[in-house]
Amino acid sequence: MKKIIIPLFLLLAALIIALYAVNYEKDPPPVTGVISVHFIDVGQGDAILIDYGTTEILIDGGEKSSQVADYLDRYVDGNMEIMIATHAHADHIGGLISVLERFTVEQIWYDGYAYSSKTFTDFISASEAENAAMHIARRGDVISAGGLTLLVLHPDITSSDLNNNSIVLGFSYGIVDFLFTGDAEHKSETSMLLSPAISVPDIEILKVGHHGSRTASSTEFLSVLTPEIAIYMAETGNSYGHPHQETLDALLDIGAHIYGTDSCGTIIITTDGETYQIKTEKLCDSVTAAP
Ligand SMILES: [Zn+2]
Repeated sequence: MKKIIIPLFLLLAALIIALYAVNYEKDPPPVTGVISVHFIDVGQGDAILIDYGTTEILIDGGEKSSQVADYLDRYVDGNMEIMIATHAHADHIGGLISVLERFTVEQIWYDGYAYSSKTFTDFISASEAENAAMHIARRGDVISAGGLTLLVLHPDITSSDLNNNSIVLGFSYGIVDFLFTGDAEHKSETSMLLSPAISVPDIEILKVGHHGSRTASSTEFLSVLTPEIAIYMAETGNSYGHPHQETLDALLDIGAHIYGTDSCGTIIITTDGETYQIKTEKLCDSVTAAP
């Protein structure tokens, strides 16, 4: 019997080691310190800052004004490492022009689509004057600085359908996962779900697509993401009716807690890579189902 027991024991030990190795490989990279992600209230538009020590990453800058540049004065130490313009619409790239004029930006990422608007041509002129490295983001690209990494999930191609050119970014800090969607709509969501090149992640925090419009946040997409927190960025009383009730209902159906910059002002999520806290500029509650 001993001859049988010893090999079985060794086999079990080998299996435990093998399982441990598999789990170990799935562990997230080590993190040090606290990171904060600011969903800056710019009215009807997007502007998101990731601030990690002396590393700053800006995703969009709201409409043309110095509001975001003024906000960043408090946070940017030295250079801004990364600026990402999700797509060419003015409510995303307008405010980036003032940011480029005020700060030294090292890397600029955009969708590469040559839009004809004055705001877009002004953005390109300001980017070229910056002497920063200009990159066109495509599915599967990795954007990194200061130990932080963002994965580009979209677009794979661009067209005159500007919202669906939006750069969609996955970002993980420890075990806390974010998805930033720009104004990507259903068409982009389907493209991401079907792509063999990337997998759409299960996340904790979602920047809701296209200001909470019904043209984004399909039930298929949300059922894969299953965010705990969903943040839409919109202005109170905006002419589009954002966020649409259908989107809020779909988010509530999957159990997300919803916060909007319209009622909460700027929303800041702070995380050590394990847990996260939410701070809002104005006193507000997460959106709940209508009685
Ligand atoms: Zn927009």
